[in-house]
Amino acid sequence: MSSGGFSPLQGMSDIAPPEVGLWQRVESVARSLFPLYGFEEIRTPILERTPVFTRAIGEGTDVVQKEMYTFDDRGGRQVSLRPEGTAGVIRALCELGPDFAEARVFYIGPMFRAERPQAGRKRQFHQIGVEALGAPSPAADAECIAMQMHLVEQWGLGGAVLHVHTRGVAADQAAVRAGLIEAVRPHLGALCEECRRRHETHPLRILDCKNPGCRAVVDTLPPVMSFMAPESRAYLDEVVARLGALGVPAQVDPRLIRGLDYYEHTIWEITHAALGAQDALAGGGRYRIDLDGRAVEGVGFAMGVERVIMALMGAGVKVEDYRGRPDLWLVAVGDRAREENLALAQQLRRRGAAVGLDTSGRSVKAQMRAANRRGAPWVAVRGDDELAAGRCQLKDMAAGAEQSVTVGELIARFAKA
Ligand code: AMP
Repeated sequence: MSSGGFSPLQGMSDIAPPEVGLWQRVESVARSLFPLYGFEEIRTPILERTPVFTRAIGEGTDVVQKEMYTFDDRGGRQVSLRPEGTAGVIRALCELGPDFAEARVFYIGPMFRAERPQAGRKRQFHQIGVEALGAPSPAADAECIAMQMHLVEQWGLGGAVLHVHTRGVAADQAAVRAGLIEAVRPHLGALCEECRRRHETHPLRILDCKNPGCRAVVDTLPPVMSFMAPESRAYLDEVVARLGALGVPAQVDPRLIRGLDYYEHTIWEITHAALGAQDALAGGGRYRIDLDGRAVEGVGFAMGVERVIMALMGAGVKVEDYRGRPDLWLVAVGDRAREENLALAQQLRRRGAAVGLDTSGRSVKAQMRAANRRGAPWVAVRGDDELAAGRCQLKDMAAGAEQSVTVGELIARFAKA
């Protein structure tokens, strides 16, 4: 079956059974873990006024310049589909007022970026993220990262690696820029065309270039941190020390850069080897965002749900194991039993049992096949004789054994509530 010209847009996918069961598990583990750390859910609109994103994320970033889905709405306002979660959440918390000055919130939902689709990179993707507002403090950053690593562990995802670094404060960022521009200048000839072009505008991006010539140059550069003030370096040292005290190992990675402009101080990324080229499972950092003259400080992260799912499947998780299964399947022999089965299913479902049945009058064989396909562990069969006796044949699908039980016994056995 194909939907022809109506298939999803490139880079956008349906999330259907059985895979959706694993998505639900990933989400529900997150929903039960965040409250342990005092985080509550927030849901913000998917569509916002464009300046919410351009102001927060930064005019010069790839996300804003090349990747946003921006258009005029029917009232002629420029609007964008959210490319990330932080900007909208900060906008919402500012509107909610002073009670939310130290908010701890999490969100789960779709994000949109018009990137070139490839394995692990979609145009509609999903993030699970958190924001904790409050002034810079290495303890707050370490707590946030430790919660994230706790979540990774709860998902059963071994082998994730935490890379941390710092962007320093505004003065450090200016010093890093100037320092890098000068340090790279003698090597311009060895850089790829794109890095030569962005040498003066985005010198940090050179650190991230995969081109072998650029990598060789980067290896000769002084570490980014050498351009920063001692206090900023001490801040990162303390984050790493606090993480150590919480039992969370971190690798300080001088090449780590993040694609959004709002970060100050700690930045981090979690990678996983099962992901291949797009190996970032999650990113995070401390930020300062000024939407309307009031700067908001906080720390947060976003985890790519598609990538979490990919990593789990790479680690051998089977999506079939997360598919919802019926507790019982009702099979009817004849029209009267078919009618009665629907009523019985309703009665059982009202008492918390997951019950499947075929209402269209297919053969007993076809009904048994459907029960098998949906993985029903028990099947109850009845025809006119069983109806008359108030009984059914209950079959254990794994063992193949059958026994006759009364309808009352069946209900008592499968009712949960
Ligand atoms: P970012 O908001 O860019 O820091 O991204 C945070 C996380 O979201 C990344 O580490 C990825 O796991 C995920 N992510 C970002 N962009 C995409 C995308 N285009 N497709 C799938 N996942 C993405």
